[in-house]
Amino acid sequence: MFGDRMRGDPAERAARAGDLARKLREDGVHGIVLPYVDTAGVTRIKTVPTARLAHAARWGVGMSPVFDVFLTDDSITSGGQLGGPDGDLRLVPDLDRLTVLAAQPGWAWAPVDRYSQAGDPWPACQRGFARAMTRQAAEAGLTFKTAIEVEWALGRAGTDEFVPACTGPAYGATRLIELSDYARDLLAALDAQGVAVEQFHPEYADAQFEVSVAATDPVAAADDSLLVRHTIRAVAHRHGLRASFSPSVLAGRVGNGGHVHLSAARDGRNLFSGGPGPHGLTAEAQAAAAGILELLPALLAIGAPSVASYLRLVPSHWAGAYACWGHETREAALRLVTGDAGEQESAANLEVKCFDLAANPYLLFGALIAAALDGVRRGLLLPPPVTGDPARFSADELAERGIRRMPAGLDEAARALSVARPLRDALGDMLTDAVLAVRAAEAQRFRGVSDEDVAAALRWVY
Ligand code: GLU
Ligand code: MG
Repeated sequence: MFGDRMRGDPAERAARAGDLARKLREDGVHGIVLPYVDTAGVTRIKTVPTARLAHAARWGVGMSPVFDVFLTDDSITSGGQLGGPDGDLRLVPDLDRLTVLAAQPGWAWAPVDRYSQAGDPWPACQRGFARAMTRQAAEAGLTFKTAIEVEWALGRAGTDEFVPACTGPAYGATRLIELSDYARDLLAALDAQGVAVEQFHPEYADAQFEVSVAATDPVAAADDSLLVRHTIRAVAHRHGLRASFSPSVLAGRVGNGGHVHLSAARDGRNLFSGGPGPHGLTAEAQAAAAGILELLPALLAIGAPSVASYLRLVPSHWAGAYACWGHETREAALRLVTGDAGEQESAANLEVKCFDLAANPYLLFGALIAAALDGVRRGLLLPPPVTGDPARFSADELAERGIRRMPAGLDEAARALSVARPLRDALGDMLTDAVLAVRAAEAQRFRGVSDEDVAAALRWVY
């Protein structure tokens, strides 16, 4: 359903992989990491020795479809269509993204697409879904560019407790001085891997940091998000440290976000600037943003997919706990970023703040594009923007302004997705089934568990 049968000619792909593998072996690369993000948001891998890359590129590497309904504790649930021990899928590495891992000497990395043994795209392949939605947008003349900001908390290795790896204030210079070599090695590794880092800084919470990267094609941006996190983890390990990307490292504190930046262009022109709408939005950008705003509660089931997500998503934490939009307002779930006056044409974009890094980035980008396209098709308009923190409004004032509090838990978000027709239609039956089954099982697993125990159980999983 998500497009091409095995993309390109398998024999040609194998020949190309053979050439690449010869070069990699000369450079001392012995193994290739093949990552795949499951529906719960956990990155799982297979690997092949470099000598086997050509075989993997031609025939794929086997993996059970049951990973579509894996949970964060490695137990397995089942949906109407998925679960059980039967069947096999082929993981086919994308050679265009083959990257030598700078912080894991001797290893390279290539994200995968999933196919059936007959060579058909697997209907629940999240990477295929992101590609299909990007293509659907292109058919409507729209080119989306996206990026995910990565926030993480850095702890000492050797314990499952969170022991901050540095001291010092939020955004403080002290933190960088204490972790100077770590930070340098991280920037060097990302650079060597061709990741276009735009900024690196100490963040608000204890030993929290952030990397932002350039926006690009959605599938590539999701790949980047995986590669950036893989690299942050690997560099941390080399320094006796441990990175947590969990939405809630410590219950009750500011968490890790995975803010999405999104823009759309038509005929090479950024639709988020130079238009007649509020703050320079064009009619199409306004409709796209309104489509996302309307579906935000349902999108949370994809972009904030963890029980821990709702420990983070609380008012007055800059996490975007209210479904509303504002111009450069950091408490609104949708923040219109217009950038420096001189740079608006290229820089203006929509930041979606309510999502976190437990999200499968491929699923998230596919769903966001589906919501944006739905808004464009219906020509939706945005309500008036908010300024300041919506938490100061009473329930009546919120209702008057049409501002909704986001779902306060995973069950509520999943219920919103289950009735969100445009998202269900885009995802298709099998992906919808997988997402809803996994969300229900994760919520069930943590029912009655204290916030502290939820945070501890999920701290090192994502
Ligand atoms: N850490 C905050 C979050 O949970 C975001 C802080 C910021 O605006 O960068 O999303
Ligand atoms: Mg941040």
